[in-house]
Amino acid sequence: MCLFDYHRFDQQLLHTIAYDALVWSSLHGLVVGDNSSQGSGSVPGVGLVHAPFALLPTPFPQNQWRQASELAPIFNELVDRVSLDAAFLQHALSRTKEADEFTSRLLDIHSKMLKINKKEEIRLGLHRSDYMLDEKTNSLLQIELNTIASSFAGLSNLVTELHRYILSRHGKLLGLDSKSIGANDAVNQNAEALAKAWSEYNNPRAVIMIVVQAEERNMDGQEISVIYFRAGYTPVDYPSESAEVLARTKTPLKRSLDGAREHTVVMVDLDPRVEWKARLLMEQSSAVKCPSISYHLVGTKKIQQELAKPGVLERFLENKNDIAKLRKCFAGLWSLDDSSIVTKAIQKPELFVMKPQREGGGNNIYGDDVRETLQKLLKSGSQEEAAAYILMQRIFPTISAAVLMRNGCWSKDHAISELGIFGTYLRNKDKVIINKPSGYLMRTKMSSSDEGGVASGFAVLDSLYLT
Ligand code: ADP
Ligand code: MG
Ligand code: MG
Repeated sequence: MCLFDYHRFDQQLLHTIAYDALVWSSLHGLVVGDNSSQGSGSVPGVGLVHAPFALLPTPFPQNQWRQASELAPIFNELVDRVSLDAAFLQHALSRTKEADEFTSRLLDIHSKMLKINKKEEIRLGLHRSDYMLDEKTNSLLQIELNTIASSFAGLSNLVTELHRYILSRHGKLLGLDSKSIGANDAVNQNAEALAKAWSEYNNPRAVIMIVVQAEERNMDGQEISVIYFRAGYTPVDYPSESAEVLARTKTPLKRSLDGAREHTVVMVDLDPRVEWKARLLMEQSSAVKCPSISYHLVGTKKIQQELAKPGVLERFLENKNDIAKLRKCFAGLWSLDDSSIVTKAIQKPELFVMKPQREGGGNNIYGDDVRETLQKLLKSGSQEEAAAYILMQRIFPTISAAVLMRNGCWSKDHAISELGIFGTYLRNKDKVIINKPSGYLMRTKMSSSDEGGVASGFAVLDSLYLT
């Protein structure tokens, strides 16, 4: 892509831009906690470093950006429909349940809610559907759909602003126009959806509770209208089940869920000791959960694979156009029951990704490890263990040049990108209050890296230069 041929750019110019970008990041809060710094994460304002970012936005075709945005409300609606079909969820995940303890715990909570006939009338979804552009077919293919803790609305929004600033300052020399950067208002859209869910709950004295992974805890006797999970998507967030400590911590949380006080946002971390009981308690409460247990389950990799089977989308959606649009973005997805695919994956593991039921990056299996893991599973003959995984067609996006900024230093690299489109959804009974695309997250990583998380250290934050 000659437009972005960084070798053409003067080294001194790149140096100046990098310096400007670092200053901008510090001034505008494009920062994260610095693990290597003492006090980071416990003392506010201490131990911060700029978030990893691409120095310049990455080119992306306008029509495929539009396509990805148009998919957001359809996926939102699909999640909602699937979430209401408890039998489908329980059945589709029944074998995963045997193989995967984490999914099993989630399904237990789901079953308990069915038993007490719990209805979620106000349903809030803050989703993010992730895609890569497959180079060979030039098609937009979905990597996954996140229904819990869909992160980076805030920082991604800032990176878009950073790039706009850089291009307004240096665009002429670079031959790039700041107006070509894709607009991004992810942070406001997500906040708006949370606020509207709070008003639908209709108790001005109730609060929004945000469940986070930090070590701090802050609870009081306030009624909770909306629970937003930024934690709880990984087994690490639920490490133990000490009954003794539970007795101590359960009471204030229970009171929070039932009581009534003024309107503020309280931050509550998932205390490792409260874990599953707390999740159950929150699910039983009248608060709007983002996500509810059903929404959480719809976002699992296994359900993604089940929805890609022929005829399954038709069970949930009527509009043929919508169904065709969704299907067009599905990559190949298979369960390990499919012995012909398993054989193919053993022969050509580089064409597949093997995924367990996990979130947050760093869990997938690639390349020769796919072959080894599959052979091991075949040898042990354990159908049960195999049910913990799905197989997915490996997507190969176009490789382009990028300048990646980490820890104040820049490096030129061959890179590939993954585009996430946020989708917000809110309904109260039959009334759909919000259903729209809500900004984006562009992540760029060295083309030699398999995984893609920013927090897990593989990728940097980026934005779109629409072409
Ligand atoms: P997680 O829920 O942990 O984020 P993902 O399915 O998004 O799991 O996989 C993590 C990363 O692995 C993605 O961000 C992407 O970089 C890479 N990846 C996942 N699926 C594929 C695929 N089919 N082809 C190529 N890369 C993939
Ligand atoms: Mg995910
Ligand atoms: Mg992902």
